[in-house]
Amino acid sequence: MYIFDPVPVESLDLAPFYQPGELGCPKVDVVWRCLGRTGRSIVRRVKSESGERAAIETTLREVAGQVQVVLSCVDRASQLAECVSAVCETARVPLVVAELSDAGGSVGPIRNSDEARESGGCISCASLYRAEGDPFLSLEREYLRRRFPLPVRRRPAVEPWLIEMLSRLALLAAFQGGDGTSSSASNQSRLWQLNSEPFEVISTAVPRHYACRQCFPAPERTSSELRRQTLREWRQNWNGPAAEPADLLELRRRSQHLIAERFAVFRSCYQESADQRRAVYRFCRDRGADPRDNLVANAFRAVVERPGRGGDRAVAFSEGSDFHDGRRAEALALMEAIERLFALDQSDPRRVVAAS
Ligand SMILES: [Zn+2]
Repeated sequence: MYIFDPVPVESLDLAPFYQPGELGCPKVDVVWRCLGRTGRSIVRRVKSESGERAAIETTLREVAGQVQVVLSCVDRASQLAECVSAVCETARVPLVVAELSDAGGSVGPIRNSDEARESGGCISCASLYRAEGDPFLSLEREYLRRRFPLPVRRRPAVEPWLIEMLSRLALLAAFQGGDGTSSSASNQSRLWQLNSEPFEVISTAVPRHYACRQCFPAPERTSSELRRQTLREWRQNWNGPAAEPADLLELRRRSQHLIAERFAVFRSCYQESADQRRAVYRFCRDRGADPRDNLVANAFRAVVERPGRGGDRAVAFSEGSDFHDGRRAEALALMEAIERLFALDQSDPRRVVAAS
């Protein structure tokens, strides 16, 4: 067993375990001194040459090659776990991250060790999902990247029993990861989320996040490559040849008979008005972007309307957008509308209760 922590004892660490006299000491030394004879014979201290990212990665790489599983403890948020995750991914070693937060804590993402690369999201993905729609957490990620490997200057206040519970779950996950029993039928990564009030453990799936640099290291995947991938997966999943998809302009031409004022599935399909486009132009100009050569300002949007139920009121039903061609936007809106007819609009008339 190896222990490693590049951050020395800080004043915020003092309360739970470390003593004032140990300020500035490497944590691994303090922990090691607390061990008994047997413990010392099992545990080895690992130290990096410096606190630089490159030195830490080199040290981690050497150790990761010799272990069956890596357990990373995050008691204060830092970017270190993401660095460990990248090293473990390359070394094909399962990683379990145990994290404390104000609401409780989490263990995971627990990934399929044989196919770590193909399975779901990593620890960066989980962190990115958490930061979505939360400006503070997004800024904290930036701050921690600059501060690497130092953690935030605060510690979540959690009950001791919760730390014990989290440690047990982390050990369970580590044992599962080490002997390869964590691989479930699905390829999804799982995150065990602990909440203190009310106390519950929820297992959630962590898909890969589009902004994760570890899961998507190469950003050059083009739309034509994505199209080829879709065709390949279609052939694999449906066990048959896949036809080239029809062109959007052709689809638009074929769907025109679905649109009419009376007795048609859709009431209308139209692009946005000049006023709406002017409004988007102003939005871009106000934010310092030149609307004339801005792709977003010049994008096209089309809306399909359905006849409203029990009256003449038409309701917006679906939308489509295209950066370059309004007719393609119309075709996309129509395809979306047809799909929604099957997926959302079905309601059994016998189940509808009318009150008057
Ligand atoms: Zn990821």
